[in-house]
Amino acid sequence: MFSRLFQPRRYGSAEAWELHRLFPSIDLHVDTLMWAQGWRYDLTQRHRLHLPRSAWVGHIDLPRLKEIGASAQFFCISTAPFRRRGLYRLAHAQIDQLMAACYDQPQHIILMRGLNDLHRAQTKGAMAAILSIEGAHFLEGRIENLQRLVQRGVRSLGLVHFTPNEAAYPNYGLGATNDKCLTDFGRQLIDECNRLGVIVDLAHVNLCGFMEACVLSRQPVIVSHTGISSVYRHPRNISDRQLRAVADTGGVIGVMYEPRYLGGRDIGAVLRHLRRVIKVAGEEHVALGSDFDGMIVPVRGLEHVAKLPNLTDAMLKAGWSAERIGRILCQNIQRVLQDVLPSK
Ligand SMILES: [Zn+2]
Repeated sequence: MFSRLFQPRRYGSAEAWELHRLFPSIDLHVDTLMWAQGWRYDLTQRHRLHLPRSAWVGHIDLPRLKEIGASAQFFCISTAPFRRRGLYRLAHAQIDQLMAACYDQPQHIILMRGLNDLHRAQTKGAMAAILSIEGAHFLEGRIENLQRLVQRGVRSLGLVHFTPNEAAYPNYGLGATNDKCLTDFGRQLIDECNRLGVIVDLAHVNLCGFMEACVLSRQPVIVSHTGISSVYRHPRNISDRQLRAVADTGGVIGVMYEPRYLGGRDIGAVLRHLRRVIKVAGEEHVALGSDFDGMIVPVRGLEHVAKLPNLTDAMLKAGWSAERIGRILCQNIQRVLQDVLPSK
């Protein structure tokens, strides 16, 4: 389905590449496993974009992640929002896809179960893969299913996607509401995530549930992929109040590359949202959460992962310090990983 005849091209300036060498990037959210499982998208092979304007998929794979020197990548277990059956089984099938890549190319990709694996990957020159879940519906209402998925390596749990589930309600999509907070099961999940060393991800969660989760969690929380509503008003985006609530937990907010939520079609739009997080929450609480392969058409200049140095150049042009760019590329999320994940 995807051609392998693609000539690698280097994007970005030498200065940007130097920053990527010093601060190897970590992205908080991609949906590639869904394509690997359902459409035989081979993570280990380089892909080229076939659809016009780099729509939907083909944004990310191991060769291109290696090329930009990424140190870790969150890989999300995700599916079409309205699917209701066989979700727990589907989660395992998507993990199988990632494990196949880890077995096939252990020199390039290592599943990160604990902090040791991040260090192990760094010394080997490999990339760490962090398994996350987009929506507690994959647990089918059973806390034991979280425990089993954690045994397989899951280290981050998003509470909800575009539909209500046993744990929480979405801020956008079918059944979005602000009249309800978390359910009892949702509260129980946060407690269990804290106990097991699993990051709580509040992307897609409605305002009431979001604020409740920030108070309940005893560990830093993340918003893996989002826009900011004080830059561009959209129900999927989060408010300044929510930014502060995440910062108060010690967590991070990953800015996404989806023009519909950013309110702009170029890298400048990503920069405006990053700048707002920095202004409101502080530069210790901002990160990147592309949403690559998540049925999006990314902003111009960031059409696929190999173009990430273009964003670094935009940050340099904005006069941002190497220290700030380093925080955004990897250091803030590294701190959260250190705070939440077990050492082994
Ligand atoms: Zn999402």
